[in-house]
Amino acid sequence: MSEPDQSSGGGTLYVVATPIGHLGDISTRAIEVLRQVDRIAVEDTRHSGRLMQHFAISTPMLALHEHNERHLAPALVEQLQAGQSIALISDAGTPLISDPGFNLVRLARQSGVRVVPVPGPSALICALSAAGLATDRFVFEGFLPAKSVARRTRLEQLVREPRTLVFYESSHRIVESLADMAQVFGESRQAVLARELTKQFETIHQDELGALQHWVQADSYQQKGEMVVLVEGWTQPDDDSLNAEAERILNILMEELPVKTAAKLTARLTGLNKRELYERGVALRKTD
Ligand code: SAM
Repeated sequence: MSEPDQSSGGGTLYVVATPIGHLGDISTRAIEVLRQVDRIAVEDTRHSGRLMQHFAISTPMLALHEHNERHLAPALVEQLQAGQSIALISDAGTPLISDPGFNLVRLARQSGVRVVPVPGPSALICALSAAGLATDRFVFEGFLPAKSVARRTRLEQLVREPRTLVFYESSHRIVESLADMAQVFGESRQAVLARELTKQFETIHQDELGALQHWVQADSYQQKGEMVVLVEGWTQPDDDSLNAEAERILNILMEELPVKTAAKLTARLTGLNKRELYERGVALRKTD
C-alpha cells in the first residue's frame, strides 16, 4: 500500500473509520494504516483494544476523548510536526461524526500537518443508503437535545426544512423523541427508524411518524440498541388537496369536539397552522 508522500518531513494524522457493528466492514487500508502508524488515538482503550486484538494490530494506543481532547491536541500536533504518524479512530464509525476529533484535526490542519482521511462506515450514510427517503439533499442533525423543551425548540426550527432530516438518538429517549417529532412535524410525515445497522438484529422500519411512535412504544424490543431516525423533508403542500383533507378531518373532529380541540388535533395530523384551522372551523360552524 502506498500512503501519501511524507517527504516534507512532518508526520501524518490519519482519520480512520472503523465498523459500526459488523467487523467485516473495516477496510484493508484501515487495517494497514492502523498497523503502520506510530500510535493510535482512541476514545476508549478497552473498547478499541478488542478491535485491535481481532485484527492483530499491536500499535500502542492513547486515550483521546471529549474530556481531554482540547488539552492533548497541542502536544499531539507537536509530535506530528516532529515526524510521528498518528491514526485517530472513535469507538465506532467515522471520527468527528458525533464523536471526538474536531479539535485535533482543526489544530493539525492549522499547523500545516497533513491530515489524511481513511473512509469507511458511518451510521448516518449507512442509514440513508437503505432508508428509501430522498438522498439527493439531506441534513445531519446529530443528537437532539435531551430535554423536551429544548428538543421541541430545535424541531420547530426544522419544520419547513425540505431536505431529508437525519438524527442520531439513544435508546432511552427514542419514544419521547418520536412523540415530539410527531407533534411538531405532524403525525403523517414519513419517517424511518434504522436500528442496529450491520448487526444481528438490524431493523429498518418506515411509517408515518405517529404510527412509528406507537409501533416503537408498543414494543420494548424496538427501543433497544443503537438507532438513527430519518424524517422525510417538508414538502410545499398542494394547497387544494391539503385544504380539502384538513377540512375533512376538521369536520369529522368537530362532530365530537369543540372547535379549539378539533383545530389543535387537525394541526397535529396535517402539520398545518393551528390558528388558521381554528378560524376555518369557526367559519364552518357558522355555515352549518
Ligand atoms: N461516529 C459514529 C458514526 O460515524 O456513525 C457515530 C457515533 S455516535 C457517538 C453514536 C450514535 O450513532 C448512536 O447513538 C446511534 O445513533 C448511531 N449509530 C452508531 N452505530 C449504529 C448502528 N450500528 N445502528 C444504528 N445507529 C448507529
